[in-house]
Amino acid sequence: MNANSEFDSELHRTAIAQLDRVAARLGLDADIHGRLRYPRRALVVSIPVRMDSGKTEVFVGYRVHHNTVLGPTKGGLRYAPDVDLGEVSALAMLMSWKCALMSLPYGGAKGGVRCDPRKLSMQEKENLTRRYTAEIILMIGPDLDIPAPDLGTDEQTMAWMMDTYSMTQGKSVPGVVTGKPLIVGGSAGRREATGRGIVYTLYQAARHLGQELRGRKVVVQGFGNVGAVAARLLWREGCTIVGISDVKGGIWKPDGIDIRQLEAHVAETGSVTGFPGSEPISNSDLITQPCDVLIPAAVGGQIHEGNADRVKASIVAEGANGPTTPEADVILRERGATVIPDILCNAGGVVVSYFEWVQGLQYYFWRESEITARLQEVMTRAFNRVWALGSKEGVDLRTAALMEGIKRVAEGYKVRGLYP
Ligand code: GLU
Repeated sequence: MNANSEFDSELHRTAIAQLDRVAARLGLDADIHGRLRYPRRALVVSIPVRMDSGKTEVFVGYRVHHNTVLGPTKGGLRYAPDVDLGEVSALAMLMSWKCALMSLPYGGAKGGVRCDPRKLSMQEKENLTRRYTAEIILMIGPDLDIPAPDLGTDEQTMAWMMDTYSMTQGKSVPGVVTGKPLIVGGSAGRREATGRGIVYTLYQAARHLGQELRGRKVVVQGFGNVGAVAARLLWREGCTIVGISDVKGGIWKPDGIDIRQLEAHVAETGSVTGFPGSEPISNSDLITQPCDVLIPAAVGGQIHEGNADRVKASIVAEGANGPTTPEADVILRERGATVIPDILCNAGGVVVSYFEWVQGLQYYFWRESEITARLQEVMTRAFNRVWALGSKEGVDLRTAALMEGIKRVAEGYKVRGLYP
């Protein structure tokens, strides 16, 4: 297969280029390397949805399993207007490396539906989610593939998925999705997990760089589930949050944003924009504002060739998946910035998803303090492994994280061999 395959997209080409680079460095077996470049299986479905108008609209959806060598597959489901097979395939590959890096017994998967969730009513979203679930039902299951929230989806989406799957089985199957509401088998601390994980990796980065997190100036792009939690925790740690944005625009306040007040403002108005005492700023200008820590926690490709040389932050913590293009990555490295790569930085979400899955399978639920302590331990261990490998091999953290993840998956392929 070549890059012009059905999985081709800019993000998939980037993911393959990353894999090829790391495979060469690891001296990976050519046969295994070849198998890792493409998904194991991918399903494309059309989803007819009864809209509020009474008309039926057809959406396109995907579910991709990258590999199943270490266990069932795991990965989010995104609702976004630009979702395509290539993007979902690339994100499934990244989930493989992420799960392996975090030592979770999962292969990578991803799902997506091309739609604009902000333009759908609750009823339309429910109809879409239920029909999508029914269409991909052969691909999911508690020991097969376990979806979770991602961009544009949330706990409610997971509750509908769980219910749809469970109805076809004639019993409740909580283990089929993670990121569910607590009442139907969700885990304490899952909602905060990604944001919390970002903060744990930032602690470690600051420690290794001989810095203190307290007092640092922080910019957060995105005020959704990931960015808002990271901002709140860092603010509580004594960081000065100087800029924040969401889809509607950004705010800039050099003397610091009171996150509790901002949360109240967002609850009232639906956006960070217009926060009293702040100046308006565009999403793209926010990226290049003076700060110590930049957290891109929105969509992919935000730090690119056109703005990377103006990024002032000395630490970039990738809350989003794929926020930095490969060209920008090189520029940031040359500038001496420390980039905590997505597969490490935002892995807190899938780590607590794993905890949720384990709790559901055992019908035994842990306290939030226990979950937080275990999350911190897993994130800290992974960060320190990556940092040590980076120093030993003289490579950046992204390369080291990919090396760790890809090596584990390749070892699985090696011992299992090729069927038949
Ligand atoms: N969507 C999240 C990610 O990209 C979480 C996936 C999961 O919990 O399975 O890591």
